[in-house]
Amino acid sequence: MIPNATLSAEEAPFYAPAVNEIALFENAYRNQLPVLLKGPTGCGKTRFVAHMAARLGRPLYTVACHDDLTAADLTGRYLLKGGETVWVDGPLTRAIREGAILYLDEVVEARKDVTVVLHPVTDDRRTLPIERTGELLTAPMEFMLVVSYNPGYQNVLKSLKPSTRQRFIAMEFGYPDPETEAAIVSAESGLPKDRCVPLVRVANALRDLKGQDLEEGASTRLIVYAATLIQSGLRPAEALEAALLQPLSDDPDIQSALARVAELAL
Ligand code: ADP
Repeated sequence: MIPNATLSAEEAPFYAPAVNEIALFENAYRNQLPVLLKGPTGCGKTRFVAHMAARLGRPLYTVACHDDLTAADLTGRYLLKGGETVWVDGPLTRAIREGAILYLDEVVEARKDVTVVLHPVTDDRRTLPIERTGELLTAPMEFMLVVSYNPGYQNVLKSLKPSTRQRFIAMEFGYPDPETEAAIVSAESGLPKDRCVPLVRVANALRDLKGQDLEEGASTRLIVYAATLIQSGLRPAEALEAALLQPLSDDPDIQSALARVAELAL
């Protein structure tokens, strides 16, 4: 597994802060505290971690967790290479050896045994016992564990246990305020800001429907997609349909209701 290239602070991907999250993250890093990012999909969590890794000059390993992800996927395993059995580090082991930032996206999706390896890494031991190789790694100061999860998706079966979540500093992410969001969408898509303002208005009107007909509101990511399509020449109505309405629901009735809400908000 190759980390994202280690970027310098000048090369940090664009991130517009909402409140004090940059200072909070820097403090957590300096004090070797693991961080939990909570928030809906597409609201900037992954971008924030990429930005912070570059600011802090650390390599970043990102793992998108899924329901088959096991502890061995993170620590490593013996693989057969050219007739020989060799140990190959997983991203957690690599990140600890290199003093990198490890970002586990949607951590609650992973198998239960993943929490077992995360516990000793997240308390003041900061150790990783690797049974298979007999090693006991101690994380250097530069190693940091960051996890994210979307409280909106969780059900009783899939939520973080208190014994796990209470090992992290938690930061809540939401959609940016309309002014900031229009600036983000403009910066990301190249579409002038005044043309992004109505798109953000539509997204906010759609977000108000969350919980009624929609499982999740329109993300910043989707607004960026809509603006990117418009910037590349698509008519706004087509861009809205493809980027903001279709991805939100498969139900034709809900879609026509969304279209009416969007029309009114434009
Ligand atoms: P998440 O990890 O929360 O699902 P991402 O970090 O992938 O979401 O955000 C999706 C996209 O939205 C990013 O690629 C970026 O274009 C944009 N974005 C959202 N919030 C911000 C922000 N605060 N600053 C810059 N870009 C942002």
